[in-house]
Amino acid sequence: MATIGFIGIGNMGAPMAANLSKAGHRVTGFDIARGPVEALAAKGGRAAGSVAEAASAGEILITMLPAGPQVRSVYLGAAGVLAHARHGSLLIDCSTIDVETARAVAAAAKEARFDMLDAPVSGGVAGAEAASLTFMVGGEADVFARAQPVLAAMGRTIVHAGPAGNGQAAKICNNMVLGVSMIAVCEGFALAERLGLEAQTLFDISSKSSGQCWALTSYCPVPGPVPTSPANREYAPGFTAAMMLKDLRLAQQAAGATAAATPLGASAASLYQLFVDDGTAGLDFSGIYRFIRKPERKI
Ligand code: NAD
Repeated sequence: MATIGFIGIGNMGAPMAANLSKAGHRVTGFDIARGPVEALAAKGGRAAGSVAEAASAGEILITMLPAGPQVRSVYLGAAGVLAHARHGSLLIDCSTIDVETARAVAAAAKEARFDMLDAPVSGGVAGAEAASLTFMVGGEADVFARAQPVLAAMGRTIVHAGPAGNGQAAKICNNMVLGVSMIAVCEGFALAERLGLEAQTLFDISSKSSGQCWALTSYCPVPGPVPTSPANREYAPGFTAAMMLKDLRLAQQAAGATAAATPLGASAASLYQLFVDDGTAGLDFSGIYRFIRKPERKI
């Protein structure tokens, strides 16, 4: 079993750290909020008082932070991970951040002679709790092999996506597809309603036809056809609209940096921005159906 430092014990990090403890690893956690650190300690982990203390606590260090700026400061700051991690430590950043930051931090880690991976996840809080996350991993193949056992304590599907930054690339490309397809499904159901076509009937046909996709068949944004989807619980998340907007912005940042043409990704980012501006940041992202449908809109 490994000794592991864990920084960022939020909605995702808390259950991920708890699963590492459950698997028998010795976990020392740090967060700028004290509550989650104390909760981790109460569940058999250890509390650290600083980034430096967590970074030097084990042979593996995992971070699960909000965004790129926090990752830069936690890793590169004077009191940060690279300055305080143990010699030979394996560093794994599971946050969803921009590809550029992921590659810059990985390069700085390499310079400081640490093995590092970017390993963002999909599966949400439910997947973190059930240890069924999907990890998309960027970094060198031998480092990926070294990380496999520890990632397996938190997830079910662990995929090597290529060199540093490619885990983040996979995450934002996947979520751009998801954001665009969710909007397309919402438009289809909204049009069907205006045409007098029952949602269940469209679902029965489309889920067996060429329009089928995950947003339709597993996460239908209309109440009824898929009983487990957030549409049946007033769009309680799930995956929030704010998180989807964050990922669509990251995709646009990457598209701008590489001159990739992503007109539908850009439209999806704008639509989710308008949806979130409506005060719905905390709703599930499939709630954009309400925004698109607008029953009060007249011809
Ligand atoms: P969160 O805000 O609940 O957790 C982040 C934690 O990091 C907080 O507890 C915060 O106090 C802590 N933190 C911030 N700055 C810090 C610092 N300098 N030092 C130590 N701790 C610090 O967010 P979350 O929902 O757990 O998401 C974490 C990451 O996972 C994000 O990048 C998010 O995009 C990604 N993600 C989230 C989900 C989801 O459904 N919540 C799904 C997939 C990926």
